[in-house]
Order: sequence, then C-alpha cells, then structure tokens
Amino acid sequence: MTTLSYEIFPPKSQVGKDNLIRTIAELKKLDPKFISVTCSNKETNFIQKTIGVTDYVQNQCDISAMVHLPAWYLNKKDVDQILYDLCKRHINQVLVLRGDTRKNLKKKGDFEHASDLISYIRQNYPDFHITGACYPEKHPESLNMVEEIQHLKFKVNSGCDQIITQFFLDNHYYYHFRELCAIAKINIPIIAGIMPVTNTRQITRILKTSTVKIPEKFKKIWTKYHDNPSVLNEIGITYAIDQIVDLVTNDVDKIHLYTMNRFKTAHKIKSNIGSLLK
Ligand code: FAD
Repeated sequence: MTTLSYEIFPPKSQVGKDNLIRTIAELKKLDPKFISVTCSNKETNFIQKTIGVTDYVQNQCDISAMVHLPAWYLNKKDVDQILYDLCKRHINQVLVLRGDTRKNLKKKGDFEHASDLISYIRQNYPDFHITGACYPEKHPESLNMVEEIQHLKFKVNSGCDQIITQFFLDNHYYYHFRELCAIAKINIPIIAGIMPVTNTRQITRILKTSTVKIPEKFKKIWTKYHDNPSVLNEIGITYAIDQIVDLVTNDVDKIHLYTMNRFKTAHKIKSNIGSLLK
C-alpha cells in the first residue's frame, strides 16, 4: 500500500501557532508515515523554531517526525549541537538541504553542497536516517538532467537513505526521472512530492521561482477559473488526487504531500482515495 507523509512549516504568529496545533492533530487522524518540518532561514532563530515544532510532532503527538536542515546556514559546531539536541528528543530523521540565497543572511561556509552536510552527518552520526532533495525537472542551477543525475548520484553516495522530489504537476517527469535514477544505479526510495495547487499565489510563485512546468490542461483550467477562489481550491485538490491515483497505479509506494499547514486539503485527499492508501 502507498504511504502518505506531509510537510508543515513553523508558524510566524499566534494565529498560525493555533492553526498548526490543530493541523498536526488533524494530520494524526490520517495516520501519516511521517511529518517533516521546514526550516525557513527568512526568520530569526529559524532552527530553534523548526526543532520546537518537530519535537512537538514527535514527542507530544507521537508521530514520526523529520527535521529539515539547510547546510549553508549551519556550521559544524551548529550541526553538532543540533544533532545532540535531536538525539535527546528522540528525533533521528533529517532532511538535509543546501538552502537558498537570502538577503542579509551569510553562508556559514562549512558546507557548500547538501552532499557535504550529508557526508558529515553520515560519518559522525551514523544512527541518523538521512533524506535528500531531488528534482525530476532539474534544479534551476543545473545545466541539464545529465548534470542533475551526476550530482544526485554523488549526494546519494554521500549517505542518503532516501530522497524526496520537488513537486511536479505532470507525472511523466517523475516516471522519466525514476528511469534515469535506475540507469544511474540510484537504488534508494524516491518519495514523490505532490503539491495541491489551490490558489493563484502558488501558481505565481511556481512560475517565478522553479523549473516545474505547468501542463497545458492545468493552464487551461486556471485561465478559465482564475477569478473564482473556491472553484480553484476544489480543482487543485481534484488535480492532486488524479496525480496520486496515477502514481499509485504506477507502483509508487511513497508520496509526500506539500499540503503545508492546510489540513482540510489533506483530509479531502485522504477521504476521496483513502482505500488506495495506507
Ligand atoms: P544541492 O544538492 O546542493 O544541489 C543544488 C545545486 O547544486 C544543484 O543544481 C546541483 O546539481 C548542484 N550541485 C550539487 N552538488 C554539486 C557539486 N558537488 N558540484 C557542483 N554542483 C553541485 N529550502 C530551505 O531553505 N528550507 C527547507 O526546509 C527546504 N525544504 C525543501 C524540501 C524539499 C523536498 C525540496 C525539494 C527542497 C527544499 N528546500 C528547502 C529548497 C532547497 O534548499 C533548494 O532547492 C536549494 O536550492 C537546493 O537544495 P539541495 O539540497 O537540492 O542542494
């Protein structure tokens, strides 16, 4: 049976905090494989906020939790402290990322690529379960898919136990990527990332910042209903459900849902196709 995991982010306000507590309680009802907690370096104390939420998920709610760690913004000393702290809190799953450039935040310089932090953790903290990120439509900085897979292979060999994909709106990119990984002998689980796109803000961000391609079918729907938020919300969820059904049919057994802190979307997906999923 295919399992579902979910991604959430630390809240910025009290309202966001209340919503997050409700979200985690609601996600627990969906029996998640794990919940991962993003780490946004746009904020101060970003790592403490992320660890605080991850601790709540793992220890107060008894849900398997994964913490995101952005390599650029941590040095070895930070990592040693963080991993010591995580051990004390019985959290042993990390999603190791490079991070992105931000104004007013300097790289700390110990880790240039995600693979540098992955091998540091693998060598010094072998009990951690390490996940890396991957990009079926290539990372924006990679020249092409050949380079993408070469770097991914190196990253996986540095010590990943599994990888999670950037979300995609056309499943064919995932299937093609899975084939390329098989050819490159990348034999660890490739968790498929699905983001239900339910509002125009998301579409604008996708177009601006990522290499994710928007399929014609999707464009048509959005052009027609762009000024009707409730229809867009329903359509976005239905589109994600359609993608998941196709993935399950094609033997994908692990899906990560970027529903973020929107538990109603997660519930709608699970209530529609729960019998297909664990
Ligand atoms: P890398 O694996 O380091 O790759 C980045 C680029 O460098 C690629 O183009 C790659 O081909 C190239 N590269 C890799 N190794 C080498 C090498 N040895 N030599 C030359 N080039 C190389 N960001 C956050 O800040 N916080 C989060 O919580 C967060 N969560 C995420 C979750 C997922 C599932 C994904 C897919 C992304 C997430 N991101 C997050 C975004 C991520 O930080 C960015 O996409 C970042 O630009 C790249 O991260 P990476 O770990 O893939 O980097």
